[in-house]
Amino acid sequence: MHPPQTVGRLAPSPTGAQHLGNARTFLVAWLATRSVGGRLILRVEDIDTPRIKPWATQQAIDDLRWLGLDWDEGPDCGGVHAPYLQTLRGSQYHTALQRLVASGVVYPCTCSRAEIQRAASAPHSGMDGSVYPGTCATWRAGDRLPVKGTYCWRFRVADRCQHYQDLILGPQHLQPCTQLGDFPLTRKTGDVAYHLAVVVDDAAMGVNQVIRGADLVPSTFRHLQLSEALGFAPPQYAHVPLVLGPDGRRLAKRHGDTRLSQLRADGIQPESIIGWAAESLGLMPTAEAIKPAELLNVFSLGQIGRQAVVTSAEDWGITPKPVEKSQDPKCF
Ligand code: GLU
Ligand code: ZN
Repeated sequence: MHPPQTVGRLAPSPTGAQHLGNARTFLVAWLATRSVGGRLILRVEDIDTPRIKPWATQQAIDDLRWLGLDWDEGPDCGGVHAPYLQTLRGSQYHTALQRLVASGVVYPCTCSRAEIQRAASAPHSGMDGSVYPGTCATWRAGDRLPVKGTYCWRFRVADRCQHYQDLILGPQHLQPCTQLGDFPLTRKTGDVAYHLAVVVDDAAMGVNQVIRGADLVPSTFRHLQLSEALGFAPPQYAHVPLVLGPDGRRLAKRHGDTRLSQLRADGIQPESIIGWAAESLGLMPTAEAIKPAELLNVFSLGQIGRQAVVTSAEDWGITPKPVEKSQDPKCF
């Protein structure tokens, strides 16, 4: 039997412009799929309503094409898993939510942000924000529901150490109850939140390889638990170490303008960006201008460095320097 074809995805969030760090992650996702003859899907994660910018979806598509990346299915070219905008896929998310409600792994939570902070005298901070103190967790399937509009559905995390093998970062583990906490799958409005949408979409679209930024490692533990609760075979995960500014913080506006649309307007060549990304990933010894397709022969996920890299708008084009920063989550 042949191993299943690799199916990867590019999943931009149109909450703003895509920048250098996104370009680097998208390049890895593209190479990891294309280098093994896989299929690539472009999916737009546009359900984070208040933060979505109407212009950002088309701009992300333009940025990706400009960089020299392509895909087999997406909002601009269609495909068998259409639609490719999360805002058009709500019914699938609600069907999955109903299954989770029926199996009792979620509970309605009426807590406000302020109440969650107050409930724990010293709010317990986990790997990814504060850990939910469990106020509403006594609810059991069949109990009365609070008034519509006053609660979100919250997922009950497993009470055991959880492991997965990251294709870039190596073995990862965490204790969900103390390091993650129960997390919401909807807003109080009933709208589905990112974690559920992403897991449902990856399963529905046959995605078996997820490559994204290292800031999402904590989310991966959530996604693995959700996949299990929904009976989905989970994809393999690889997290690309982040690009940081010279101050060691995640590359952002304060470090200068690294929006791809701006670099394009400034006359920077996409091959220079790909060259910088390839060098900083450890795929090439020097940052020479190169096209994505020219990297297909030299690419393997195992070559990618596990450390974050530093760059800034000013020294852009200069070799990014590795920094000492452990990406490894610890189990207590
Ligand atoms: N849409 C997310 C982002 O742009 C990525 C989510 C994912 O890859 O699962 O950061
Ligand atoms: Zn609550």
